[in-house]
Amino acid sequence: MEHVQIPDPLVEHGFSASVDHMFDRAVQFLNLSPGLEQKIRVCNATYTVRFGVRLRGGIETFTGYRSVHSEHMEPVKGGIRYSLDVNRDEVEALASLMTYKCALVEAPFGGSKGGLCIDPRQYSEEELERITRRFAYELAKRDLIHPSQNVPAPDMGTGEREMAWIADQYARMNTTDINAQACVTGKPVSAGGIEGRVEATGRGVQYGLREFFRHPEDVARAGLQGSLDGKRVIVQGLGNVGYHAAKFLSEEDGAKIIAILEHDGGLFSESGLDVEAVRQWILQHGGVTGFPDALYVENAPVLLEEDCEILIPAALEGVINQHNAARIKAPLIIEAANGPITFHANEVLRAKGTVIIPDLYANAGGVTVSYFEWVKNLSHIKFGRMQRRQEEARHQLVVDELERLSKAIGTPWELSADFKSRYLRGADELELVRSGLDDTMRSAYQSIRALWHVRPDIGDLRTAAYCVSIERIADSYRSKGL
Ligand code: GLU
Repeated sequence: MEHVQIPDPLVEHGFSASVDHMFDRAVQFLNLSPGLEQKIRVCNATYTVRFGVRLRGGIETFTGYRSVHSEHMEPVKGGIRYSLDVNRDEVEALASLMTYKCALVEAPFGGSKGGLCIDPRQYSEEELERITRRFAYELAKRDLIHPSQNVPAPDMGTGEREMAWIADQYARMNTTDINAQACVTGKPVSAGGIEGRVEATGRGVQYGLREFFRHPEDVARAGLQGSLDGKRVIVQGLGNVGYHAAKFLSEEDGAKIIAILEHDGGLFSESGLDVEAVRQWILQHGGVTGFPDALYVENAPVLLEEDCEILIPAALEGVINQHNAARIKAPLIIEAANGPITFHANEVLRAKGTVIIPDLYANAGGVTVSYFEWVKNLSHIKFGRMQRRQEEARHQLVVDELERLSKAIGTPWELSADFKSRYLRGADELELVRSGLDDTMRSAYQSIRALWHVRPDIGDLRTAAYCVSIERIADSYRSKGL
């Protein structure tokens, strides 16, 4: 059945081309008209802006992008990245991944992505605020930031702080828009954000892995067995996503983080690294160099090739490529980053039988919780606020009834204080967010694995995930028209 045109294996393709090849492999298993297939594949529009900001006595010109991949659902959604590597091809590839990701986890958005060519570490907070507000102004003027049309979020190099500036800039430009807060997600809780958004992508990686390990047949396909407990994990990039994934997996699931790769080198410890200690070290010293309780490896990328059970690339795209793919030993890779494995490397790993939990599923936790934040902003009420007292009253009824029954049967037993305190308390926002995220990651995985098992010719989880996602987008076009 595999009649996909595999591009020249000696040529490494660009990021967009890589995503398109993965798309092409999937569509041959679907029954789409060539016209619809092409409509879904292509990026609708990419806006490039160059603007000047007065800085340090001169004028500095910046280049930024906002790409809209698909508007089959609006608003379109996706982060804004700050990095010197930002370019048009990257932003378009990331926007297309957003489309597929949102469809897969049933977040009702089209895909978009933005980027600014800047090294944020070279600027003071005040300078960054001016640059960000100006960029936001340029985008908002063209409805590329808008609660019902285009809703950015954090990505590499940006976080809550930048989102708060963007939200405020939009609100100043649209003083009569009652939904202004919903123009961007990933804001601080004090500025209309939601509990659990910062940890969300890493949390989603944890929930995704937990779900994978609930299925022994799937685990066996990677040549593994048992649970996450004791599994050796290598994490590339200890930024927001890698840090939270590594922290939760080691602290809550018993996984052993044996290596962490960073921009200035890598750390290795057969007995497992203390993720929190490494993170604090990086925050204080700007890198992993000098961290006392591990072996320091100057050439960090070689650690990707170490023996382990699970490899988590959690930073840049293309880190697993034609140069190292053949030497990767991990039998299971979960793509916490977007596009960390090039199409070429994907071919090599597929042939080796490596199981890859793909980016469009693995890192969808961020946009899932962004969806919750957007809904919270549009409904103008904190999750759980209206139900909480009612929930507590209903729980009290159950506790009272249990106590009455225990008296009635004459066997004296008492509910523990711990049970009572935990059961009586109505759910708070963080718990609701986490449970909504868990549920989303579990059901999305089940839809992918169902196809993976029913259609052995599909071959891998990535192709299955693309199939589920593309089919949903096609359905939406079929029912609504183009
Ligand atoms: N930047 C994140 C991603 O790549 C989050 C996007 C969002 O929340 O809209 O998925």
